Amino acid sequence: MTSIKLKTPHSGEYEQPTGLFINNEFVKGVDGKTFEVINPTDESVICSVHEATEKDIDIAVSAARKAFEGSWRRETPEHRGRLLVKLADLFEANSDELAAVESLDNGKAISMAKGDVAAAAGCLRYYGGWADKIEGKVVDTTPDTFNYIKKEPIGVCGQIIPWNFPLLMWSWKIGPAVACGNTVVLKTAEQTPLSALVAAKLIKEAGFPPGVINIVSGFGKIAGAAIASHMDVDKVAFTGSTVVGRQIMKAAAGSNLKKVTLELGGKSPNIVFEDADIDNAISWVNFGIYFNHGQCCCAGSRVYVQESIYDKFIEQFKARAEKNAVGDPFHEQTFQGPQVSQLQFDRIMGYIEDGKKAGAKIETGGKRIGDKGYFIEPTIFSNVTEDMKIVQEEIFGPVCTISKFKTKEEAVKIGNNTNYGLAAAVHTSNLNTAIEVSNALRAGTVWVNTYNTLHWQLPFGGFKESGVGRELGEAALDNYTQMKTVSIRLGDALFG
Ligand code: ADP
Repeated sequence: MTSIKLKTPHSGEYEQPTGLFINNEFVKGVDGKTFEVINPTDESVICSVHEATEKDIDIAVSAARKAFEGSWRRETPEHRGRLLVKLADLFEANSDELAAVESLDNGKAISMAKGDVAAAAGCLRYYGGWADKIEGKVVDTTPDTFNYIKKEPIGVCGQIIPWNFPLLMWSWKIGPAVACGNTVVLKTAEQTPLSALVAAKLIKEAGFPPGVINIVSGFGKIAGAAIASHMDVDKVAFTGSTVVGRQIMKAAAGSNLKKVTLELGGKSPNIVFEDADIDNAISWVNFGIYFNHGQCCCAGSRVYVQESIYDKFIEQFKARAEKNAVGDPFHEQTFQGPQVSQLQFDRIMGYIEDGKKAGAKIETGGKRIGDKGYFIEPTIFSNVTEDMKIVQEEIFGPVCTISKFKTKEEAVKIGNNTNYGLAAAVHTSNLNTAIEVSNALRAGTVWVNTYNTLHWQLPFGGFKESGVGRELGEAALDNYTQMKTVSIRLGDALFG
Protein backbone atom coordinates (compact mmCIF):
# COMPACT_ATOMS: atom_id res chain seq x y z
CA MET A 1 0.00 0.00 0.00
CA THR A 2 1.43 3.39 -0.91
CA SER A 3 -1.40 5.63 0.20
CA ILE A 4 -4.03 5.83 2.90
CA LYS A 5 -7.08 7.91 3.69
CA LEU A 6 -6.54 10.45 6.46
CA LYS A 7 -8.60 13.26 7.92
CA THR A 8 -7.73 16.75 9.10
CA PRO A 9 -10.03 19.03 11.10
CA HIS A 10 -9.57 21.71 8.44
CA SER A 11 -10.03 19.99 5.10
CA GLY A 12 -11.74 16.70 5.96
CA GLU A 13 -10.76 13.39 4.38
CA TYR A 14 -7.91 13.22 1.89
CA GLU A 15 -5.64 10.72 0.17
CA GLN A 16 -2.21 10.68 1.82
CA PRO A 17 0.53 9.08 -0.30
CA THR A 18 2.99 7.13 1.84
CA GLY A 19 5.37 5.76 -0.81
CA LEU A 20 8.57 7.13 -2.24
CA PHE A 21 7.83 9.33 -5.26
CA ILE A 22 10.18 8.09 -7.97
CA ASN A 23 9.57 8.37 -11.73
CA ASN A 24 6.18 9.95 -11.02
CA GLU A 25 4.94 6.88 -9.12
CA PHE A 26 4.59 6.18 -5.41
CA VAL A 27 6.59 3.04 -4.63
CA LYS A 28 7.64 1.04 -1.58
CA GLY A 29 11.24 1.14 -0.42
CA VAL A 30 13.45 -1.77 -1.57
CA ASP A 31 14.00 -2.95 2.01
CA GLY A 32 10.30 -2.65 2.80
CA LYS A 33 10.99 -0.39 5.79
CA THR A 34 8.54 2.16 7.10
CA PHE A 35 8.60 4.71 9.90
CA GLU A 36 5.94 6.39 11.99
CA VAL A 37 4.88 9.99 11.65
CA ILE A 38 3.92 11.60 14.95
CA ASN A 39 1.30 14.30 15.48
CA PRO A 40 3.07 16.90 17.66
CA THR A 41 -0.23 18.25 18.98
CA ASP A 42 -1.25 15.05 20.79
CA GLU A 43 1.73 12.71 20.29
CA SER A 44 -0.41 10.14 18.44
CA VAL A 45 0.78 8.24 15.35
CA ILE A 46 -0.69 9.80 12.22
CA CYS A 47 0.48 7.04 9.85
CA SER A 48 3.60 5.26 8.64
CA VAL A 49 5.49 6.13 5.48
CA HIS A 50 7.96 4.16 3.39
CA GLU A 51 11.59 4.76 4.22
CA ALA A 52 14.28 5.30 1.61
CA THR A 53 17.58 3.55 2.26
CA GLU A 54 20.75 3.74 0.18
CA LYS A 55 19.33 1.42 -2.50
CA ASP A 56 16.29 3.64 -2.98
CA ILE A 57 18.52 6.69 -3.27
CA ASP A 58 20.41 4.85 -6.03
CA ILE A 59 17.11 4.17 -7.82
CA ALA A 60 15.92 7.77 -7.43
CA VAL A 61 19.27 9.14 -8.62
CA SER A 62 19.17 6.84 -11.68
CA ALA A 63 15.67 8.06 -12.47
CA ALA A 64 16.81 11.68 -12.16
CA ARG A 65 19.91 10.98 -14.31
CA LYS A 66 17.84 9.31 -17.01
CA ALA A 67 15.38 12.21 -17.05
CA PHE A 68 18.22 14.72 -17.19
CA GLU A 69 20.09 13.04 -20.03
CA GLY A 70 16.88 12.12 -21.80
CA SER A 71 14.04 14.53 -22.23
CA TRP A 72 14.57 17.24 -19.63
CA ARG A 73 17.72 18.93 -20.81
CA ARG A 74 16.26 19.08 -24.30
CA GLU A 75 13.03 20.63 -23.06
CA THR A 76 12.51 24.25 -24.03
CA PRO A 77 12.96 26.78 -21.22
CA GLU A 78 9.50 28.07 -22.01
CA HIS A 79 7.99 24.65 -21.33
CA ARG A 80 9.93 24.24 -18.07
CA GLY A 81 8.52 27.59 -16.99
CA ARG A 82 4.99 26.63 -17.95
CA LEU A 83 5.17 23.45 -15.87
CA LEU A 84 6.37 25.37 -12.82
CA VAL A 85 3.62 27.93 -13.22
CA LYS A 86 1.10 25.09 -13.53
CA LEU A 87 2.51 23.58 -10.34
CA ALA A 88 2.11 26.94 -8.59
CA ASP A 89 -1.53 27.10 -9.76
CA LEU A 90 -2.11 23.59 -8.40
CA PHE A 91 -0.62 24.60 -5.03
CA GLU A 92 -3.16 27.41 -4.89
CA ALA A 93 -6.04 25.21 -6.02
CA ASN A 94 -5.15 22.66 -3.30
CA SER A 95 -4.17 25.23 -0.70
CA ASP A 96 -6.62 24.12 2.01
CA GLU A 97 -5.51 20.50 1.85
CA LEU A 98 -1.79 21.28 1.69
CA ALA A 99 -2.02 23.71 4.61
CA ALA A 100 -4.03 21.28 6.69
CA VAL A 101 -1.52 18.47 6.15
CA GLU A 102 1.28 20.85 7.08
CA SER A 103 -0.47 21.77 10.34
CA LEU A 104 -1.24 18.15 11.13
CA ASP A 105 2.31 16.95 10.61
CA ASN A 106 4.39 19.95 11.72
CA GLY A 107 2.04 21.46 14.30
CA LYS A 108 2.17 24.94 12.84
CA ALA A 109 -0.90 27.15 13.17
CA ILE A 110 -3.26 26.73 10.22
CA SER A 111 -3.21 30.47 9.43
CA MET A 112 0.60 30.29 9.18
CA ALA A 113 0.47 27.09 7.13
CA LYS A 114 -1.82 28.84 4.64
CA GLY A 115 0.77 31.61 4.42
CA ASP A 116 3.45 29.01 3.72
CA VAL A 117 1.43 27.47 0.89
CA ALA A 118 0.79 30.88 -0.67
CA ALA A 119 4.51 31.69 -0.44
CA ALA A 120 5.46 28.29 -1.89
CA ALA A 121 3.14 28.95 -4.86
CA GLY A 122 4.64 32.43 -5.24
CA CYS A 123 8.13 31.00 -5.26
CA LEU A 124 7.34 28.28 -7.84
CA ARG A 125 5.64 30.81 -10.12
CA TYR A 126 8.54 33.24 -9.76
CA TYR A 127 11.05 30.60 -10.88
CA GLY A 128 8.69 29.55 -13.64
CA GLY A 129 9.09 33.12 -14.86
CA TRP A 130 12.88 32.85 -14.75
CA ALA A 131 13.10 29.63 -16.80
CA ASP A 132 13.26 31.43 -20.17
CA LYS A 133 15.33 34.37 -18.94
CA ILE A 134 18.54 32.57 -18.09
CA GLU A 135 20.90 34.19 -20.52
CA GLY A 136 24.57 33.97 -21.41
CA LYS A 137 26.98 36.56 -22.70
CA VAL A 138 29.20 37.32 -25.67
CA VAL A 139 32.69 38.54 -24.77
CA ASP A 140 35.04 40.14 -27.29
CA THR A 141 38.69 39.30 -26.81
CA THR A 142 40.56 39.38 -30.14
CA PRO A 143 39.08 40.09 -33.62
CA ASP A 144 39.63 36.51 -34.77
CA THR A 145 37.80 34.90 -31.86
CA PHE A 146 34.15 34.57 -31.05
CA ASN A 147 33.55 33.84 -27.35
CA TYR A 148 30.24 33.09 -25.75
CA ILE A 149 29.38 32.06 -22.24
CA LYS A 150 26.43 29.76 -21.71
CA LYS A 151 24.69 28.97 -18.46
CA GLU A 152 24.00 25.25 -18.34
CA PRO A 153 22.20 23.14 -15.76
CA ILE A 154 24.40 21.26 -13.30
CA GLY A 155 22.63 17.91 -13.61
CA VAL A 156 21.17 15.77 -10.85
CA CYS A 157 20.61 17.82 -7.71
CA GLY A 158 20.24 16.23 -4.28
CA GLN A 159 18.19 18.43 -1.99
CA ILE A 160 17.83 17.86 1.74
CA ILE A 161 15.24 19.90 3.57
CA PRO A 162 14.30 20.44 7.25
CA TRP A 163 11.03 20.09 9.12
CA ASN A 164 10.30 23.71 10.08
CA PHE A 165 8.88 24.83 6.70
CA PRO A 166 8.40 21.60 4.76
CA LEU A 167 6.42 22.99 1.82
CA LEU A 168 8.19 26.29 1.64
CA MET A 169 11.62 24.63 1.58
CA TRP A 170 10.28 22.22 -1.05
CA SER A 171 9.49 25.18 -3.30
CA TRP A 172 12.72 27.09 -2.55
CA LYS A 173 14.69 24.03 -3.61
CA ILE A 174 12.65 22.64 -6.49
CA GLY A 175 11.73 25.99 -8.12
CA PRO A 176 15.19 27.24 -9.12
CA ALA A 177 16.65 23.76 -9.74
CA VAL A 178 13.97 22.79 -12.23
CA ALA A 179 13.74 26.26 -13.82
CA CYS A 180 17.43 25.97 -14.70
CA GLY A 181 16.94 22.53 -16.31
CA ASN A 182 18.22 20.26 -13.55
CA THR A 183 16.54 17.16 -12.19
CA VAL A 184 16.01 16.56 -8.50
CA VAL A 185 16.05 13.99 -5.71
CA LEU A 186 14.62 15.74 -2.66
CA LYS A 187 14.65 14.21 0.80
CA THR A 188 12.22 15.53 3.37
CA ALA A 189 12.93 15.61 7.10
CA GLU A 190 11.95 12.43 8.94
CA GLN A 191 9.71 14.45 11.30
CA THR A 192 7.56 15.90 8.50
CA PRO A 193 7.29 13.82 5.32
CA LEU A 194 3.55 14.20 4.66
CA SER A 195 2.93 17.53 2.90
CA ALA A 196 5.78 16.93 0.42
CA LEU A 197 4.13 13.67 -0.67
CA VAL A 198 0.76 15.37 -1.16
CA ALA A 199 2.59 18.02 -3.21
CA ALA A 200 4.29 15.22 -5.18
CA LYS A 201 0.88 14.23 -6.58
CA LEU A 202 0.70 17.73 -8.07
CA ILE A 203 4.05 17.26 -9.85
CA LYS A 204 2.52 14.51 -11.94
CA GLU A 205 -0.69 16.45 -12.44
CA ALA A 206 1.25 19.51 -13.63
CA GLY A 207 2.78 17.35 -16.37
CA PHE A 208 6.44 17.02 -15.35
CA PRO A 209 8.02 14.04 -17.12
CA PRO A 210 8.87 11.02 -14.91
CA GLY A 211 12.16 11.31 -13.04
CA VAL A 212 12.48 15.10 -13.18
CA ILE A 213 11.40 15.56 -9.56
CA ASN A 214 11.72 12.65 -7.12
CA ILE A 215 10.70 12.96 -3.47
CA VAL A 216 11.87 10.53 -0.80
CA SER A 217 11.14 10.16 2.90
CA GLY A 218 13.95 8.91 5.09
CA PHE A 219 16.45 9.52 7.82
CA GLY A 220 19.36 11.92 7.67
CA LYS A 221 22.08 9.47 8.57
CA ILE A 222 20.87 6.95 5.98
CA ALA A 223 19.08 8.54 3.03
CA GLY A 224 20.50 12.04 3.58
CA ALA A 225 24.05 10.77 3.89
CA ALA A 226 23.56 8.60 0.78
CA ILE A 227 22.59 11.68 -1.24
CA ALA A 228 25.48 13.77 0.09
CA SER A 229 28.08 11.12 -0.76
CA HIS A 230 26.51 9.82 -3.99
CA MET A 231 28.92 9.65 -6.91
CA ASP A 232 26.23 10.47 -9.47
CA VAL A 233 24.71 13.48 -7.72
CA ASP A 234 26.20 16.64 -9.21
CA LYS A 235 25.08 19.08 -6.58
CA VAL A 236 23.70 19.01 -3.06
CA ALA A 237 21.61 21.76 -1.51
CA PHE A 238 20.95 21.51 2.19
CA THR A 239 18.95 23.45 4.74
CA GLY A 240 19.33 22.48 8.38
CA SER A 241 21.69 22.63 11.31
CA THR A 242 25.27 23.84 11.07
CA VAL A 243 26.49 20.53 12.51
CA VAL A 244 24.92 18.56 9.65
CA GLY A 245 25.96 21.22 7.12
CA ARG A 246 29.58 20.46 7.96
CA GLN A 247 28.94 16.73 7.43
CA ILE A 248 27.36 17.40 4.04
CA MET A 249 30.37 19.41 2.95
CA LYS A 250 32.72 16.66 4.10
CA ALA A 251 30.67 14.02 2.29
CA ALA A 252 30.77 16.09 -0.90
CA ALA A 253 34.52 16.57 -0.55
CA GLY A 254 35.05 12.87 0.14
CA SER A 255 33.00 11.68 -2.85
CA ASN A 256 32.80 13.47 -6.21
CA LEU A 257 33.30 17.08 -5.06
CA LYS A 258 29.69 17.81 -5.89
CA LYS A 259 28.75 21.48 -5.67
CA VAL A 260 27.38 22.45 -2.28
CA THR A 261 25.02 25.13 -1.05
CA LEU A 262 24.08 25.33 2.60
CA GLU A 263 21.49 27.33 4.49
CA LEU A 264 22.26 26.78 8.15
CA GLY A 265 21.57 28.05 11.63
CA GLY A 266 21.45 31.48 13.17
CA LYS A 267 21.40 33.43 16.40
CA SER A 268 20.10 36.67 15.03
CA PRO A 269 20.23 39.98 16.91
CA ASN A 270 17.12 42.15 17.05
CA ILE A 271 18.29 45.63 18.06
CA VAL A 272 15.89 48.28 19.36
CA PHE A 273 17.03 51.92 19.63
CA GLU A 274 15.44 54.46 21.97
CA ASP A 275 13.99 56.44 19.05
CA ALA A 276 12.06 53.44 17.64
CA ASP A 277 8.27 53.39 17.49
CA ILE A 278 7.97 51.16 20.54
CA ASP A 279 4.63 49.50 19.74
CA ASN A 280 5.84 48.62 16.26
CA ALA A 281 9.16 47.35 17.61
CA ILE A 282 7.43 45.14 20.17
CA SER A 283 5.18 43.60 17.53
CA TRP A 284 8.15 42.76 15.31
CA VAL A 285 10.37 41.55 18.15
CA ASN A 286 7.52 39.28 19.26
CA PHE A 287 6.98 38.04 15.71
CA GLY A 288 10.74 37.77 15.20
CA ILE A 289 11.15 35.17 17.91
CA TYR A 290 7.78 33.45 18.30
CA PHE A 291 6.75 33.07 14.64
CA ASN A 292 6.71 29.36 13.76
CA HIS A 293 7.25 28.63 17.49
CA GLY A 294 10.81 29.94 17.28
CA GLN A 295 11.64 27.19 14.80
CA CYS A 296 13.18 29.56 12.26
CA CYS A 297 16.82 29.65 11.27
CA CYS A 298 16.53 33.44 11.16
CA ALA A 299 14.63 33.79 14.48
CA GLY A 300 15.43 37.04 16.29
CA SER A 301 16.56 35.19 19.39
CA ARG A 302 18.86 37.84 20.87
CA VAL A 303 17.01 41.04 21.69
CA TYR A 304 19.10 44.12 22.53
CA VAL A 305 17.35 47.26 23.76
CA GLN A 306 18.85 50.70 24.34
CA GLU A 307 19.26 51.43 28.04
CA SER A 308 16.89 54.43 28.30
CA ILE A 309 13.82 52.44 27.13
CA TYR A 310 14.81 49.02 28.46
CA ASP A 311 12.48 48.90 31.51
CA LYS A 312 9.45 50.12 29.57
CA PHE A 313 10.24 47.79 26.66
CA ILE A 314 10.60 44.67 28.74
CA GLU A 315 7.34 45.28 30.56
CA GLN A 316 5.41 45.74 27.31
CA PHE A 317 7.20 42.90 25.49
CA LYS A 318 6.41 40.54 28.35
CA ALA A 319 2.73 41.51 28.24
CA ARG A 320 2.73 41.00 24.45
CA ALA A 321 4.37 37.55 24.64
CA GLU A 322 1.89 36.44 27.28
CA LYS A 323 -0.97 37.33 24.93
CA ASN A 324 0.25 35.08 22.10
CA ALA A 325 -2.39 32.43 21.51
CA VAL A 326 -0.69 29.06 22.06
CA GLY A 327 -2.69 25.90 21.42
CA ASP A 328 -4.41 23.71 18.87
CA PRO A 329 -2.91 24.53 15.47
CA PHE A 330 -6.30 24.02 13.85
CA HIS A 331 -7.95 26.92 15.70
CA GLU A 332 -7.98 29.88 13.36
CA GLN A 333 -6.87 32.23 16.17
CA THR A 334 -3.84 30.17 17.23
CA PHE A 335 -0.47 31.83 16.72
CA GLN A 336 1.80 29.19 18.25
CA GLY A 337 1.30 25.44 18.10
CA PRO A 338 3.47 22.65 19.53
CA GLN A 339 7.18 22.18 18.85
CA VAL A 340 7.73 19.61 16.13
CA SER A 341 8.96 16.61 18.13
CA GLN A 342 9.83 15.17 21.51
CA LEU A 343 13.50 15.59 20.67
CA GLN A 344 13.14 19.30 19.90
CA PHE A 345 10.93 19.77 22.95
CA ASP A 346 13.58 18.15 25.16
CA ARG A 347 16.38 20.22 23.60
CA ILE A 348 14.52 23.47 24.21
CA MET A 349 13.59 22.56 27.79
CA GLY A 350 17.26 21.64 28.30
CA TYR A 351 18.30 25.14 27.20
CA ILE A 352 15.72 26.69 29.54
CA GLU A 353 17.16 24.70 32.46
CA ASP A 354 20.65 25.68 31.43
CA GLY A 355 19.72 29.37 31.36
CA LYS A 356 18.21 29.15 34.83
CA LYS A 357 21.29 27.40 36.21
CA ALA A 358 23.59 29.98 34.62
CA GLY A 359 21.74 32.70 36.59
CA ALA A 360 19.54 34.22 33.90
CA LYS A 361 16.11 35.45 34.99
CA ILE A 362 12.91 34.17 33.40
CA GLU A 363 10.76 37.23 32.74
CA THR A 364 7.95 35.10 31.41
CA GLY A 365 7.37 31.50 30.29
CA GLY A 366 9.87 28.71 30.80
CA LYS A 367 7.36 25.91 31.26
CA ARG A 368 5.59 23.21 29.32
CA ILE A 369 1.93 23.82 28.56
CA GLY A 370 -0.38 20.85 29.29
CA ASP A 371 0.82 17.27 29.46
CA LYS A 372 0.12 16.10 25.90
CA GLY A 373 1.75 17.62 22.86
CA TYR A 374 5.01 19.53 22.70
CA PHE A 375 3.77 22.96 23.80
CA ILE A 376 6.17 25.43 25.42
CA GLU A 377 5.36 28.87 26.83
CA PRO A 378 6.78 31.89 24.99
CA THR A 379 9.87 32.54 27.09
CA ILE A 380 12.01 35.62 27.75
CA PHE A 381 15.30 35.49 29.64
CA SER A 382 16.86 38.66 31.08
CA ASN A 383 19.98 39.08 33.27
CA VAL A 384 22.02 37.33 30.65
CA THR A 385 25.70 37.63 29.84
CA GLU A 386 27.18 37.22 26.38
CA ASP A 387 29.03 34.02 27.29
CA MET A 388 25.91 32.10 28.33
CA LYS A 389 24.90 29.13 26.21
CA ILE A 390 21.39 30.55 25.79
CA VAL A 391 22.93 33.67 24.21
CA GLN A 392 25.45 31.82 22.04
CA GLU A 393 23.67 28.70 20.81
CA GLU A 394 20.69 28.29 18.53
CA ILE A 395 17.75 27.11 20.67
CA PHE A 396 15.23 26.73 17.82
CA GLY A 397 12.26 27.28 20.10
CA PRO A 398 10.11 30.06 21.59
CA VAL A 399 12.92 31.38 23.77
CA CYS A 400 14.77 34.68 23.51
CA THR A 401 17.24 36.59 25.62
CA ILE A 402 17.06 40.32 26.23
CA SER A 403 19.75 42.72 27.38
CA LYS A 404 20.71 46.39 27.27
CA PHE A 405 23.16 48.44 25.27
CA LYS A 406 24.26 52.06 25.49
CA THR A 407 25.58 53.16 22.08
CA LYS A 408 25.33 52.31 18.39
CA GLU A 409 28.89 51.00 18.47
CA GLU A 410 28.09 48.69 21.35
CA ALA A 411 24.93 47.45 19.61
CA VAL A 412 26.91 46.52 16.51
CA LYS A 413 29.64 44.86 18.55
CA ILE A 414 27.30 42.61 20.53
CA GLY A 415 25.08 42.06 17.51
CA ASN A 416 28.07 40.65 15.65
CA ASN A 417 29.27 38.63 18.63
CA THR A 418 28.30 35.27 17.14
CA ASN A 419 29.67 32.70 14.71
CA TYR A 420 26.40 32.93 12.82
CA GLY A 421 25.36 35.59 10.32
CA LEU A 422 22.00 34.74 8.84
CA ALA A 423 19.84 37.72 9.78
CA ALA A 424 19.58 40.77 12.03
CA ALA A 425 17.18 43.63 12.60
CA VAL A 426 17.33 47.28 13.62
CA HIS A 427 14.42 49.27 15.00
CA THR A 428 14.86 53.04 14.84
CA SER A 429 13.24 56.15 13.40
CA ASN A 430 16.61 57.62 12.49
CA LEU A 431 17.55 56.95 8.87
CA ASN A 432 21.28 57.30 9.50
CA THR A 433 21.20 54.85 12.41
CA ALA A 434 19.23 52.40 10.25
CA ILE A 435 21.74 52.52 7.41
CA GLU A 436 24.92 52.71 9.48
CA VAL A 437 23.96 49.82 11.72
CA SER A 438 22.62 47.71 8.83
CA ASN A 439 25.89 48.20 6.97
CA ALA A 440 27.93 47.22 10.02
CA LEU A 441 26.01 44.06 10.90
CA ARG A 442 27.52 40.90 9.47
CA ALA A 443 24.39 39.12 8.32
CA GLY A 444 22.91 38.00 5.00
CA THR A 445 19.63 39.82 5.64
CA VAL A 446 19.03 42.93 7.77
CA TRP A 447 15.48 44.03 8.47
CA VAL A 448 14.70 47.61 9.50
CA ASN A 449 11.54 48.18 11.56
CA THR A 450 10.25 44.77 10.56
CA TYR A 451 11.20 41.09 10.92
CA ASN A 452 10.92 37.77 9.07
CA THR A 453 9.56 39.48 5.98
CA LEU A 454 11.24 37.16 3.52
CA HIS A 455 10.22 37.28 -0.11
CA TRP A 456 11.03 34.94 -2.96
CA GLN A 457 12.38 37.86 -4.99
CA LEU A 458 15.03 38.65 -2.36
CA PRO A 459 18.19 36.59 -1.81
CA PHE A 460 18.42 34.82 1.54
CA GLY A 461 21.45 33.12 3.07
CA GLY A 462 24.21 33.39 5.56
CA PHE A 463 27.42 35.20 6.37
CA LYS A 464 29.95 33.28 8.47
CA GLU A 465 28.79 29.84 9.70
CA SER A 466 25.21 30.42 8.59
CA GLY A 467 25.80 29.05 5.14
CA VAL A 468 27.22 28.97 1.68
CA GLY A 469 25.40 30.53 -1.27
CA ARG A 470 22.10 32.38 -1.47
CA GLU A 471 18.63 31.01 -2.01
CA LEU A 472 15.73 32.90 -3.59
CA GLY A 473 15.83 35.81 -6.00
CA GLU A 474 17.97 35.81 -9.10
CA ALA A 475 20.89 34.71 -6.92
CA ALA A 476 19.53 31.17 -6.60
CA LEU A 477 19.98 30.65 -10.34
CA ASP A 478 23.75 30.72 -9.75
CA ASN A 479 23.37 27.68 -7.48
CA TYR A 480 21.76 25.67 -10.25
CA THR A 481 23.69 26.69 -13.35
CA GLN A 482 27.29 26.38 -14.37
CA MET A 483 29.03 28.50 -16.94
CA LYS A 484 30.47 27.14 -20.11
CA THR A 485 32.87 29.28 -22.10
CA VAL A 486 32.94 28.55 -25.82
CA SER A 487 35.78 30.13 -27.75
CA ILE A 488 35.69 29.90 -31.56
CA ARG A 489 38.70 30.67 -33.74
CA LEU A 490 37.54 32.64 -36.80
CA GLY A 491 39.25 33.50 -40.06
CA ASP A 492 40.54 36.99 -40.66
CA ALA A 493 38.14 39.50 -39.28
CA LEU A 494 36.03 41.32 -41.87
CA PHE A 495 35.58 44.98 -41.22
CA GLY A 496 33.12 46.58 -43.61
P1 ADP B 1 17.47 19.29 13.09
O1 ADP B 1 18.59 19.10 14.07
O2 ADP B 1 16.78 20.57 13.26
O3 ADP B 1 16.54 18.11 12.96
P2 ADP B 1 19.10 18.54 10.89
O4 ADP B 1 20.16 19.40 10.34
O5 ADP B 1 19.48 17.36 11.72
O6 ADP B 1 18.14 19.48 11.69
O7 ADP B 1 18.15 18.00 9.74
C1 ADP B 1 17.86 18.69 8.55
C2 ADP B 1 17.80 17.71 7.41
O8 ADP B 1 19.07 17.08 7.28
C3 ADP B 1 16.81 16.57 7.59
O9 ADP B 1 16.24 16.25 6.33
C4 ADP B 1 17.67 15.42 8.08
O10 ADP B 1 17.15 14.16 7.77
C5 ADP B 1 18.94 15.67 7.28
N1 ADP B 1 20.16 15.09 7.87
C6 ADP B 1 20.45 14.88 9.18
N2 ADP B 1 21.66 14.31 9.31
C7 ADP B 1 22.17 14.15 8.06
C8 ADP B 1 23.39 13.62 7.52
N3 ADP B 1 24.33 13.15 8.29
N4 ADP B 1 23.55 13.66 6.17
C9 ADP B 1 22.61 14.15 5.37
N5 ADP B 1 21.44 14.64 5.80
C10 ADP B 1 21.21 14.66 7.13
